This record gives sequence, C-alpha cells and structure tokens, in this order.
Amino acid sequence: VPNDTKREYDSKDKLQDGLIAPGFDEASCLSRYQSNLYRKVSPQKPSSHLLSRLRSYEDLHKKCGPHTKPYNKTLEQLKSSSNPSSTSADSSEECKYVVWISYSGLGNKILTISSAFLYALLSNRILLVDPGTDMADLFCEPFPENSWLLPNDFPLKDQFVTLDQKSPHCHGNILKKKNNTKNTSPESVTSFLYLHLVHNNDDQDKLFFCDEEQIPIEKVPWLVMRTNIYFVPSLFLMPSFEQELEKLFPEKETVFHLLGKYLFHPSNHVWRMITRYYQAYLANADERIGIQVRTFEPGPSPFPHVMNQIYACVFKEKLLPLVERKKPIVTASSGIPKLKSVLITSLTSGYSEDVRNMYWEHPTVNGDTIGVFQPSHEEHQQTDKNLHDRKAWVEMYLLSLCDMLVTSAQSTFGYVAQGLGGLKPWILYKPENRTTPDPPCGRVRSMEPCSHAPPFYDCKAKKKVDTGAILPHVRHCEDVAWGLQLV
Ligand code: GDP
Repeated sequence: VPNDTKREYDSKDKLQDGLIAPGFDEASCLSRYQSNLYRKVSPQKPSSHLLSRLRSYEDLHKKCGPHTKPYNKTLEQLKSSSNPSSTSADSSEECKYVVWISYSGLGNKILTISSAFLYALLSNRILLVDPGTDMADLFCEPFPENSWLLPNDFPLKDQFVTLDQKSPHCHGNILKKKNNTKNTSPESVTSFLYLHLVHNNDDQDKLFFCDEEQIPIEKVPWLVMRTNIYFVPSLFLMPSFEQELEKLFPEKETVFHLLGKYLFHPSNHVWRMITRYYQAYLANADERIGIQVRTFEPGPSPFPHVMNQIYACVFKEKLLPLVERKKPIVTASSGIPKLKSVLITSLTSGYSEDVRNMYWEHPTVNGDTIGVFQPSHEEHQQTDKNLHDRKAWVEMYLLSLCDMLVTSAQSTFGYVAQGLGGLKPWILYKPENRTTPDPPCGRVRSMEPCSHAPPFYDCKAKKKVDTGAILPHVRHCEDVAWGLQLV
C-alpha cells in the first residue's frame, strides 16, 4: 500500500465503481483488487447501462466462451466451410465471435483489443484474443468463469500469418469482387470473414464501418480481425450504434478509460514489478510527473532538439522548476519546498540522464527537490519478447499513476498511460526537420486515444467527407491532424 497520505485513494471501492464483477479469485490477480490503492479516485464513473451491459456480456462469454457446447458447435461450422464458396452461414446460431489477431506493439495491442471489445459488445459477439507470445503473461483474465484467450487448437490459427488484404475471406476483397460480378455478398461466401483494419487498409476495407455492410456481416459467426488502429471513434460515426453508445458512454471521452480499467489488469508478476517500483521511487513524493519520450526519427539519441523540447515544455507549462546555474541561492524561497518525482520512460537513457544531472548539479530556483527515475532503457523495440513486454506494460502503468503527464505525439504507448490514468497530458508535438517545435507542447483536450487511420467516407452519400467535422464529439486530434478522437 502506498505510504503517502496526501492523495485521496479509494481504499473501500475494491470493485472500482462496479466495473469489476464479483466472484473472481482474488489471489490469482492481485492488481484487480489493489489498483484502487495506487490510483486516485476517478471522477469518471461508469454509467449504469455500461455496468449492466458488461454483466450481460460476461454471461454471454460464460455461455459461448472456449470449449463450451455452442463454441464447439460454431467451430464445426467453420471446419465444414473452409472453402470460400461452400455453405452459407446460419444466422440462427446463438454464439458469434470476434477473434483478435496478435499484432503490433503493446500500446497498439491494448488499444485495438479495447476497440474489438466495444465492437463485440455492440454486435452481441464474444471477444476471443489470440494469446500471441505475451497476452497470458502480461494480463489477468478479465471475464469471470471462462477465458478470453483463443484456444491453441483453433482451426484457423495456422492461417493467421497469411491472412491479408488479398485473402479470399477478406471482407474488403470480397466487396471488390462483388463490384465486378454483382453476385457475391459476404454472408453467401463463408462462415468466417477476415477484417483488415490495419493502417494501410483501403477504401473497401474501411466499408466495414458502414451500416449497410454490418447487415450482411451480422450473419457471419466468425469475424477474424487484424488491426493496429484504435477504431472506437469510427464506431461512434455509425448511426446504427449511436443510441446505444450514448447510453453506454454519456461522457464520450471516458470510453478507453473505463474499458481499459475493465479489461487490462496486470498479471501478478507484472503487478509486483509495478508496486516495487512505485514504493521505491514514487510513493514518497508530493507530486509525480511522468514524461514519456518516444521518437520516431533515425539516428543516435538523445536528440538535442528533443531534449530542448522537453525542457521548453516543462518550464513553459511550469511542470518542473528552473535551476539556478550561475550564482548560489542565498535566500530560502517562500513556501514549503516540495519533493517531486519525475518518471521518465524512453527506449534510451540520454534524456533522463540529462534531466537528472541538471537537478543534481544545480539548485532549483524555488527550493523544490527533484528526483529523476527511469525504469529501463531497452534501446530497441522488441515486441513479443517476454521481459521486454513486461517492462513496457509496467512503464505504461506507472506513467498512468502519475499526477501529471507529458507524452510524445503519435504514440499509443502514451495514449494507454493517459487513458488508464484518466489524465490529460501535455503532448510534445512531433518535431519536423530535426527542429524543436514552437510551441513545444500543448495540453490535450481529451484523455481519449487518437485514431490514426480513420475512414473519410460518407456511407449514405457515397462520397468522401471530413469525418472530423460531422459530430461535435468526434474531432481531429491535436497530435495527428488527420486522426480522429472522441472529445
Ligand atoms: P507506439 O509505437 O509508440 O505507438 O507504441 P507501441 O507500444 O505499440 O510500440 C512500441 C513498443 O516499443 C512498446 O510496446 C515497447 O515494446 C517499446 N517501447 C517504446 N517505448 C518504450 C519505453 O519507453 N519503455 C519500454 N520499456 N519500452 C518501450
């Protein structure tokens, strides 16, 4: 339990405002019941409608999850129609599924699983997650009674690597052929569809987000999706889901915050890494400031223009005090000096070394004491390596426990931290031509992640449209001009 008493923690609400279903074995997933001791009381409460839909989802998952009778029966259908032109799907089947393929970095995975889950909730499907190499190691089971992990013997599993835009089962590809022949529609083709929702998807793949396409898709029992896009904003643009989403999330910018807290509980060994680090470096501070540094430029780090950008941002926004470099401070500052802990995450160590040395070598102008810590510097992205992924998850989570956050533009790693923490970070704008941007950073208006490759299509009018200008709560993002974000 954290030893600072200055923050308000919700020690009583172990079930997190009702998000957590009763009936889990507590010891098997300590974080599920202990995270409230580390997180500030969240002003973002789940709606009663969301809570009741989560409970009915859990019932459905129990009924249809892996190795249940309906699961085995639906699987039979899949086996009998592995060739694309055979039997049509039987829409009377009681259980239908969304299968999420393990793909991309961990931040992307967390955002896309949340998107797939929301789609499953809206379309009365069951979400099954391809465990890949890391899912079972990093996360607890989110649903009581039955696993969310796709069983190893799932018949299509060997095909996952080869499923792409040109596959005969690819939804967008089927629509292309339909345009040519006029007689194929997704439901007459198969009992499974592959959805290609990756950033390089084309206009046909994106038709998945049109209401007219959802009608035939509804009949297909197995939807297999590969995605690295947080596609929640696109679901909000679909008229058929509008009413339900309004009831589920009266406050639009809480979608990932609430779904993330519901779905992603660190497994016990990850949780112990989080709490050990928190106790050692963060618990005693008056204020915790997280700085997430993610650069997408080639070359050796630290980049001087990024280092300058971090300083320009934290000083301009008064997140950290300036230092006195020339003369020693003689008069003590007014007010009580604070202990501030700065948690810096980055693949390299140069940025935090610079900040740490500055606060060690020079006094702060206001007398505050600044501790600077960086849990790891892994040098390169090594997706799907166990300890590497654990560290990435630990660091996203620790950032989410900070009081204030500075994140890097376009990074889903930072989006996860801000969303889980319910924080609105100052975002370091993307540097162009190796130059520090001016202004260096700005406060985001929403805690929601940005969707990086949304459709720009009006399904009714059948023409291109600016999807960031249709609804007041779906807007372009501050860090990605073409992206969409719930506000
Ligand atoms: P994005 O690429 O920034 O959108 O975030 P992703 O999480 O999808 O992919 C980046 C991956 O690189 C992470 O999952 C980590 O594996 C690694 N990575 C990037 N930044 C950090 C960091 O600050 N700390 C650690 N431990 N890993 C990082």
